[in-house]
Amino acid sequence: MTDMGMKVEQVLHMVGGAGETSYATNSRLQEKTMYRTKPILDNAIEEMYRTLLPERLVVADLGCSSGPNTFLVVSEVLGVVGELRRRLEQKPPEIQFFLNDLPGNDFNNVFRSLERYGKKIEEEKGELLVPYYVVGVPGSFYGRLFPCRSVHFFHSSYCLMWLSQVPQGLESDRGVPLNKGNIYITETSPPQVVEAYQEQHRRDFSSFLKSRYAELSVGGGMVLTFLGRKKQHPALGDLSLLWGLLAEALNSMASERRWRINMLGSSKDRKVKEREHHTLVVFMKEEKLVTFDLPFYSPSMEEEVKAVIHKKRSL
Ligand code: SAH
Repeated sequence: MTDMGMKVEQVLHMVGGAGETSYATNSRLQEKTMYRTKPILDNAIEEMYRTLLPERLVVADLGCSSGPNTFLVVSEVLGVVGELRRRLEQKPPEIQFFLNDLPGNDFNNVFRSLERYGKKIEEEKGELLVPYYVVGVPGSFYGRLFPCRSVHFFHSSYCLMWLSQVPQGLESDRGVPLNKGNIYITETSPPQVVEAYQEQHRRDFSSFLKSRYAELSVGGGMVLTFLGRKKQHPALGDLSLLWGLLAEALNSMASERRWRINMLGSSKDRKVKEREHHTLVVFMKEEKLVTFDLPFYSPSMEEEVKAVIHKKRSL
């Protein structure tokens, strides 16, 4: 992905389906995060329900992806609301769930698994189950997705570190890539690169809050979980280390490709030789790697996330 204005919403998607390499099969880390944040989610839903006691409740999971984790959200909300309305002796509310992700998401896989999870939820909740309906919503959460004041509760887990685009300004005025050799901020990234990422995050997070502010009904709530960092400088976060290792691997694939081209000649010669040696080599093109930067940013909670929230609050 280069900084030529390519929008993430047009290209990003997790691996669809339910196969070995799919997101659905490889999202245990995200599932674990949801279990860790469950008490926070439960409290927030309880508070919202007690405040509003609505007959119809609208809940949205933003960045639901195509795996089973979004059904954990559905199940959790149904569990908390079902139990609470019994204790408070309220009529069972009807719940509308909106599952949102980018248009490239494998929504079909979500819809296909709905019946299976529906049965499981029915068995688990028994008599406490309240009526619910599930709808898919394609679109970027960096813009408006719902009518004004129509959603009572927003949930989003493991999504907000994805930016809406690769930051502008990762090239010099003459078009020379400034973050060469890296795919994210590292200790060797020049200050302009760090600033470009910070600015993109500020803008995106701000747009996210602005849209949710318009869509949230009075007394509604929101639980957002995303990757951040404790250290002040972006190059010192764990993710910088992780993406740094990936960049190293990609760089070595690219330089091996260059070496092979030098040693084995043209692509036609190379294919013949590879066939002779029973090897098929797929290598990263160096030119592509030089301009590749991730549309991803893990902010510091203290300095960056809170600053955007306070600024929005004061407006
Ligand atoms: N919440 C799920 C999925 C996390 S993966 C879970 O916990 O398992 C992150 C998801 O965010 C991906 O499916 C990706 O497509 C989605 N995403 C990233 N940017 C987005 C955007 N701007 N709008 C909507 N969804 C987005």
